[in-house]
Amino acid sequence: MIGRDWVGTFKQWLEFSLVAFAVLFFAMAFLFLGNVVMLQGDRQDLESYSNDLFARAVAVAAETEKILDSDWSTEAPCSEDDLDRMRYVIFYSRMLRDVGRLEVNRLLCSAGWGALPDELQALPPSQYHIGAVRFWSKIINPAHPQVISDIAAKGDIFVATSPAAFDRFISPPSGIGAKVVTSDGQYVFEKFGEADAINYVPAEQWRDQGGTLRFVRCDEKYALCVVSQKTDGGLFSREIVLPVVLALAGTLFGLFAGLVGVIQLRHQQSLPVKLRKMLRKKSLMLHYQPLRVLSSGKLVGAEALARWPLHNGSWVSPDTFIPLAEELGLMSELTRLVVEKALAEMGARLREDPGFYISINITAADLLDHDFGKVLDASVKHHGVLPAQVVLEITERTTSDYSQLDGAMRSLSQKGFRFYMDDFGTGYSNLGSLAQLPLDAIKVDKVFVKAIGTDSPVAEIFGPISKIAQDLRVNIVAEGIETAEQSSGVLQWVPDAIGQGWLLGRPVPAAMFPAN
Ligand code: C2E
Ligand code: MG
Ligand code: MG
Repeated sequence: MIGRDWVGTFKQWLEFSLVAFAVLFFAMAFLFLGNVVMLQGDRQDLESYSNDLFARAVAVAAETEKILDSDWSTEAPCSEDDLDRMRYVIFYSRMLRDVGRLEVNRLLCSAGWGALPDELQALPPSQYHIGAVRFWSKIINPAHPQVISDIAAKGDIFVATSPAAFDRFISPPSGIGAKVVTSDGQYVFEKFGEADAINYVPAEQWRDQGGTLRFVRCDEKYALCVVSQKTDGGLFSREIVLPVVLALAGTLFGLFAGLVGVIQLRHQQSLPVKLRKMLRKKSLMLHYQPLRVLSSGKLVGAEALARWPLHNGSWVSPDTFIPLAEELGLMSELTRLVVEKALAEMGARLREDPGFYISINITAADLLDHDFGKVLDASVKHHGVLPAQVVLEITERTTSDYSQLDGAMRSLSQKGFRFYMDDFGTGYSNLGSLAQLPLDAIKVDKVFVKAIGTDSPVAEIFGPISKIAQDLRVNIVAEGIETAEQSSGVLQWVPDAIGQGWLLGRPVPAAMFPAN
């Protein structure tokens, strides 16, 4: 009992663990996947912002280079023709707003401001240069102190970038910062959003670090890079409801999956499923109980009794699984297995002693199964055993309608197989029809044997039963003989009875079956 309680507690614990594990697993999985999806989205946002900015920076660089590298020597500097040409050039520029002439750092004239006065303040020294091109970033234009722009100059030509060139990058999506820098990272042309936090290391493309995504794209020709960064990526940077909802959904899903698992587990552990599995694996075992001539104790046969061991070391009683197999329509499969095993395990003994027989329990379903006779034939042939060494026990209870079984029994009987009527006295046999059956013996049920020596009226019935047997000219096998008193009680009525019971030998595996 304690063992069973323990097994029950263990099963409950196992089921609980399964559900708890599923809940935990799916809650975490949902959060993890949610985070992966969000990070992916953040990456795409960052990448597309970066790529746009990069394309724009390259376009600005390309126009700057094109204008600065044009041949401006054909016109006299700051002449009307020169200014005309500048206006024309800038009119068709998308990224630049002004082009002009300068001497060292002093602006002389430009398309936008025309000729500039001599006393105009010079630009401060350039902030950076690449080859002959000098750069100023966000510099106050001396021609108009309210105009701030980026300026690039080569020789005596300068260009000012249009403020519209980068205006759509000024407010990047939340958490994104970006810089347009020289490829060595030394000089910053432009910066947007949370750019100050970006620590650019050349030659890296993508980096995920503690919730920060970094994307770098460089152009070799113009030696510039766009470095962008998103600081608060992923699920956990979002509002708290999102992770909470995902965790909750994962929990519910886990609960559902866990319960489905428990139902499946219970189903797997249900007896019908286990019975099918046992038949498939042929893990049924047989024990053999001696059948002896009661008067002399001579061993004449063995009854094969099915034994079903479970993994936990317990056994399922045949009184449970035989009716279950009948209910599930698995009986003929089970009987075939018993026949196969019994003849294999007891074959040597049967071949050695042609007077020895094996008694096998069958049901009505087996007799109604057309192939059963063929199975028996094949088995006895295969094991070199005589059909007469195989006794088939049918119970009175399952054979109330003998007319259907009569033909099958008769044909098996003609082949030499013998029949015992098992558990006789517990059913409702019509004695008339019983007389028609090809029976070799009746096995008087143990309730009658048990009553011998007691004052139970059932004991009285043993006499009439032996009379019937005499009339039908069949032998008597007495089941359930546990005491010497029961043995001599049976012998008084039926001197040549065969006996079966604990007094004469318990059911044991083939290897332990007595030699005599
Ligand atoms: P059964 O065919 O009448 O088998 C005799 C039963 O009585 C066996 O129970 C046996 O262990 C038990 N028994 C033997 N000697 C004694 C005794 O001295 N005292 C008491 N109290 N019992 C004794 P078991 O093995 O539990 O089988 C129960 C029933 O299950 C069998 O009754 C039989 O009807 C059925 N069964 C067992 N194996 C098979 C099988 O392979 N096929 C079919 N169709 N039925 C089977
Ligand atoms: Mg039996
Ligand atoms: Mg019986």
